[in-house]
Amino acid sequence: MEGSERVPLGNKAARVDGAPDKKELEALTRELLTQLTDLQDAFHADGRHSLLLILQGRDASGKDGVIKSVYGAFNPTGVRVAAFGPPTALELRHDFLWRVHQVVPPRGMIGVFNRSHYEDVLAVRVRKLAPESIWKERFEQINHFESMLHANGVVIRKCFLHISQDEQRERLLSRLDDPRKNWKFRVEDLDDRALWDDYTEAYRDVLSKCSTPSAPWYVVPSDEKAVRNYLVAQMLVDTLQALHPTYPSMQPAVRDAARNFT
Ligand code: ATP
Repeated sequence: MEGSERVPLGNKAARVDGAPDKKELEALTRELLTQLTDLQDAFHADGRHSLLLILQGRDASGKDGVIKSVYGAFNPTGVRVAAFGPPTALELRHDFLWRVHQVVPPRGMIGVFNRSHYEDVLAVRVRKLAPESIWKERFEQINHFESMLHANGVVIRKCFLHISQDEQRERLLSRLDDPRKNWKFRVEDLDDRALWDDYTEAYRDVLSKCSTPSAPWYVVPSDEKAVRNYLVAQMLVDTLQALHPTYPSMQPAVRDAARNFT
């Protein structure tokens, strides 16, 4: 996503016409996850970059589902997940990027954000938690922050998991119907659902103002979970492959020591 064109975020954009069926997509995703396992191993050893995957989306859009899908491909020592809920009293006394910067992955690591600093131009804007004069400035501040991270070896990829209003309804209802999912239902989800159009406008601004070549946004059609998981896995494989991760060669001192190794 780049530029200021009006980003299509209607019901149609939440699906992919003519996508392969679920079984086929799941098989393709499994192949991608196998590739991811090897790529991450080399990426971790290489240690030149870190990778930050930012997941944003409305309630029940599948942020947890994506994490569950890709996490299994990774060696857990090389990946950290951070979730961003409402800021604590201490976090509110700092600038909005403070809590985020602390958990940006160091080189060799993959970091996954379940929500992120984008809540500070989404929830904060839509729920009127700060005046417009404050959140409006943040688009530029975010671009500067991400550009600084990029210049310091952090590869950033951002996915907006786009679901339709009908699909969200189904998923929220299933949280009420299924005792194993009741705990996931929050009354605040209904407040946000009532603000659907305001969130759409806020997401449009995020996607058009904060998609840059070094930190692009991907709108992931997410009504079908198999399509969503496949697209995210493919994007991660493409991203890691493009970095050409390589294993460091043996240090001379190690080679010498190995000669005397009995
Ligand atoms: P999720 O809804 O992401 O699955 P959850 O139900 O476990 O997660 P939390 O992670 O505790 O809930 O909090 C998510 C909520 O926190 C969302 O409603 C989100 O809008 C809100 N939130 C996150 N960051 C901020 C922020 N900077 N300011 C205000 N609200 C925020």
